Amino acid sequence: MSSKRPSRLRFNFGFFLEATLGTSRTIELNYPTIQVEDLTLSPLAGTFTATRTSEGVYLSGTLSSTIIGECVRCLEKATIPINLKLDDLFYYPPHTAPEGEYALGDDGFIDLAPLVRELTVLETPIQPICRPDCQGLCLECGQNLNEADCGCEPDPIDPRMSALQKLLDSSNN
Ligand SMILES: [Zn+2]
Ligand SMILES: [Zn+2]
Repeated sequence: MSSKRPSRLRFNFGFFLEATLGTSRTIELNYPTIQVEDLTLSPLAGTFTATRTSEGVYLSGTLSSTIIGECVRCLEKATIPINLKLDDLFYYPPHTAPEGEYALGDDGFIDLAPLVRELTVLETPIQPICRPDCQGLCLECGQNLNEADCGCEPDPIDPRMSALQKLLDSSNN
């Protein structure tokens, strides 16, 4: 049992390949923190079912994690909970896998790292916010309004709407 790659998400399914079609196993993951390729997931936990099918091993289940991003409103650290839905067939033998599909290794191992990474990237919000009611930064002075009120006169118009407001103003004139 040797592994060239340091992935901690490699699982031996060798025993399983000899099993009757339809045989399934439930696998539980519970990592307080784990490095998955270039991502650090803290935690990575959940359960999935592996089922032997005629084409390979089908994985189904949900893992949960959190990722750390930068809040687009206040630029502080944002901790974002994410769910990773596994719904993937790992082909076996590996040469039967169509282009771009996952496969078991010839050695019967499944490395979940590429799949977990792919799902994490897909689930990562493009515009993360630290919390739904984040007040963001004052547009005048840059004060983080979650921490303190700066006393600047609040602009009644959302800056994103100001272009529209100008248009309305000019049409009223
Ligand atoms: Zn924020
Ligand atoms: Zn201010």
